[in-house]
Amino acid sequence: MKNSPETLLCHDPDQKYEGAVVPPIFQNSLFTFPDWEAVDGAFDARQEHFIYSRGKNPTVDFAEKKLAEIAHADRTILFTSGMAAISAAVLYCVKPNSHIITVKNVYGPTSNFLANYLKEKLNIETTFVSGENAEDFKANIRKNTSLIYLESPASATFCLQDLKAVASLAKEKNIKTICDNTWATPLFQHPLDLGIDFEVHSVSKYLGGHSDLVAGVIMGKKQEMEALFSREYEWLGGKISPFEAWLLIRSLRTLPIRMQRHQENAMKVAQFLEEHPQIAVVRYPALRSFPQYELGKKQMSGYSGLFSFQLKTNDIEKIKTFYNALKIFHKGVSWGGFESLVYAPAISYLKELSSEQFVNMNIALSDIRISIGLENAEDLIADLRQALEII
Ligand SMILES: *Cc1c(COP(=O)(O)O)cnc(C)c1O
Repeated sequence: MKNSPETLLCHDPDQKYEGAVVPPIFQNSLFTFPDWEAVDGAFDARQEHFIYSRGKNPTVDFAEKKLAEIAHADRTILFTSGMAAISAAVLYCVKPNSHIITVKNVYGPTSNFLANYLKEKLNIETTFVSGENAEDFKANIRKNTSLIYLESPASATFCLQDLKAVASLAKEKNIKTICDNTWATPLFQHPLDLGIDFEVHSVSKYLGGHSDLVAGVIMGKKQEMEALFSREYEWLGGKISPFEAWLLIRSLRTLPIRMQRHQENAMKVAQFLEEHPQIAVVRYPALRSFPQYELGKKQMSGYSGLFSFQLKTNDIEKIKTFYNALKIFHKGVSWGGFESLVYAPAISYLKELSSEQFVNMNIALSDIRISIGLENAEDLIADLRQALEII
């Protein structure tokens, strides 16, 4: 009988150390062996043995196994950040002079890595598509396309891609697929089950959940993960620290209950905003008014707590006044922690983009992005209400 994620995440490995209910942190750079034969044997099976902590470490291994179970992956590998995981997964999939297709609203640093870094270093071209329709990808496939990189929902506009349809058309052409699943978490969406080759996450968001760690993970099939381990993981060296892996083990125990609360709170806040006369639109895949609501329902079993809305006013001073008037919402980047956060994409985009680029990315000056935390939903609503009243 297979246990549900709630039960799996609350259970520790069979081997208990002195009966400790919480497994220890193996803060070791290396592991020793009784003799020549044992060292020799460990080298023959490097994927299984603890030899040196740039490879495998018991604390890290434990966290990786828990993640693999909830994600339906053969294997997962933890990295020092989401970007370390993303860049390693992408490098595994591409070849020099090849071509990548991704979505317009992909996470900013990922977009720069693909379109700028890989272009300069490996002459790889990247095509950006809206991605709302699987045909967008099909129409842009070239002979040398090596990778389709997805992010669904995308963390800027929450646009979805049909993961099953894209995975199937990529397989036909021998193109690798990666999906950034940070928003939905491995509890609410299973890209690997839908045929995607690799799933990547910023562990710094919901998986960590306590705003106290930065990490990333790649999840996938056995053979490919083994190849990735002995190349992109061991050679690029983006390992997670045992302490951060231990913090993650702590976090995972409460992941299901946290996600349930994020989801409930976010729905209450989104419904309040949707009915408010000063709000133009709320972009949250859980709402029936969301343009891709049906697709979301088909491929996700739940919704997290990050979404955006647009104020009706375009007056930058009023937008600032609203933002600054929020008292419970902390002002800052990132998301997925216990604390509610508010961010105005205009703060970064006004520095970097022209107004045409703004429109092209489907982002307005008056867009506000909020990460709904674990506070009382009524308090969050009251905070938003008072800030809307003064503008
Ligand atoms: C934060 C984030 C990343 C990058 O993760 P880091 O842990 O900050 O390196 C990647 N993708 C998405 C969708 C993110 O929100």
